Amino acid sequence: MLEKVSFRDTLFEAGLLVASGVDGIYGRSGDFEAVVDGIDGLISRDGAMPGAEVVRFPPAMPRSVIETSGYLKGFPHLAGTVHCFCGDDQAHKKLLQCLDDKEDWTGQQKSVDLALTPAACYPVYPMIASRGPVKMDGHIIDVSSYCFRHEPSLEPTRMQMFRMREFVCIATPEITKAFRDRWVERGHAIVSALGLPVAVDLANDPFFGRGGKIMADSQRDQALKFELLVPVNSAETPTACLSFNYHIDHFSSIWDLKMQDGRLAHTACVGFGFERLALALFRHHGLNRAGWPAHVRAALWPN
Ligand code: ATP
Ligand code: ZN
Ligand code: MG
Repeated sequence: MLEKVSFRDTLFEAGLLVASGVDGIYGRSGDFEAVVDGIDGLISRDGAMPGAEVVRFPPAMPRSVIETSGYLKGFPHLAGTVHCFCGDDQAHKKLLQCLDDKEDWTGQQKSVDLALTPAACYPVYPMIASRGPVKMDGHIIDVSSYCFRHEPSLEPTRMQMFRMREFVCIATPEITKAFRDRWVERGHAIVSALGLPVAVDLANDPFFGRGGKIMADSQRDQALKFELLVPVNSAETPTACLSFNYHIDHFSSIWDLKMQDGRLAHTACVGFGFERLALALFRHHGLNRAGWPAHVRAALWPN
């Protein structure tokens, strides 16, 4: 019987993704990046948020941010921290000896004050909090970053390092909720215009462990997270390409983010997954972007 070639193998063969030997860590070809750039431009044009503050962070942040933000409560299994060699000559000899003996050399490393960014919006909250109260009509931040999550997978849509563009809203409860709801509609329109079949559904985050089930149920009961789904790997389990999150005062109470009237702010974010959107386009329109429908090419590359 002929073995079904996986979508990931098809992408490797076409050279769009480059295998590294580790599931979820891939190189990207020039064509793949042209699509990512096209999506980025489209978000800036059709998703424009006038007055948004643009800020770009590197894919690592202070370890204290991942500790304070509560990420390790919900997602200890996804977090990545940075370890470095901090020893002397003797310790260096030990490290090299371990390498020669094919033993674990990483014991010669120490955790440093960095963690890998798990979602583009994490560094935003302490940045805004450090400035003092937020003006009453709220603040929008446009942020984008490589993100890390330890979730190796054979599905090309589930990477360990991937890029996310987000708009974050920090405002009153009314403004924040309206921002999230409006983005569900805008996200639907932007992705539909790319000729992709989309559905929006209620969702929950993959909280860890036994307590995680309760957190996930509560998130669903309060309708805090929606996802925009596109079939990429299969029709049965479509892939979340955008997500729309209302955090209520989760981040604002942690970081003491206040409005000018002294009340706690509320926060929300919309996240676009660049690689997932690019893979959805390759899946639905073919591996050769030159052959994509004219309206899709015009939306991605207007010039
Ligand atoms: P999933 O339910 O598929 O794990 P998620 O709920 O974890 O997705 P979010 O945490 O909301 O996703 O992240 C925002 C966006 O980042 C997602 O909508 C998706 O497009 C993208 N994303 C999340 N995890 C990955 C991943 N492992 N690889 C590639 N893109 C991802
Ligand atoms: Zn976010
Ligand atoms: Mg996830």
